[in-house]
Amino acid sequence: MKIGVLALQGAVAEHIRSIEQTGVEGVAIKKVEQLGDIQGLIIPGGESTTIGKLMRKYGFIDAIRQFSAQGKPIFGTCAGLIVLAKHIEGQEDAHLELMDITVKRNAFGRQRESFETDLKVKGIEEPVRAVFIRAPLIVSVGEGVEVLSTYNNEIVTAREGHLLVSSFHPELTDDYSVHQYFVEMVKESEQ
Ligand code: GLN
Repeated sequence: MKIGVLALQGAVAEHIRSIEQTGVEGVAIKKVEQLGDIQGLIIPGGESTTIGKLMRKYGFIDAIRQFSAQGKPIFGTCAGLIVLAKHIEGQEDAHLELMDITVKRNAFGRQRESFETDLKVKGIEEPVRAVFIRAPLIVSVGEGVEVLSTYNNEIVTAREGHLLVSSFHPELTDDYSVHQYFVEMVKESEQ
C-alpha cells in the first residue's frame, strides 16, 4: 500500500515522514499520472490559493475528483482542508469542491496566528497534539459530515465518508495518531 502527498507546495516532507512512521510507504505526488499508483492522498498545509493555482495548472483538479469518485481516501490538512471544501467564506470560487463543508480562512485572528493544544479527536484514543498555523475553521457542515473534534466550540476535524480534514498540522509533531487513523481509512477502502 502507498499513500501519496500532493507535492506542489507546502509541508510535503513532514507528511511523508509521518506516513512512514505508521509503516506505510509515502510518495511525493508531482504528476497526475502518479495518482494511479497510490491508494490514499494527503493534501498538505501551505497556502491554499497557491496550491489551488498549481492544481489547475497541472491538471490536478479533474484528476483528484476522479480519484475521489473511485472512493479512494483523501486527507486535507490546513490549506489542504480549504482546497477540499465546497465553499470558502467570502470567496466566489472554491477549488476541488469535494467535501460538504464551508470554511473560513485564517480564522483564529492575528494575535493567535499560531498555537498548540491537546485535542480530543473522535476515533482516536489519546488526545492529539495539534499545531495551528493561520488555521482555517469549518463554519458549517452538510448532513453527511461527521464532526470529529472541536476547539472552543469551533469545528477543527471532520470526516465525510472517505474524506478527512483537519484545521491543524498533525505532521509537525511526533504524534502520528491522525496519520494512523487515515491509514486505517485507506485500508478499509481497499477491502
Ligand atoms: N492560511 C493558509 C491558507 O489560507 C493556510 C495555513 C496553513 O496551511 N498553515 O491557505
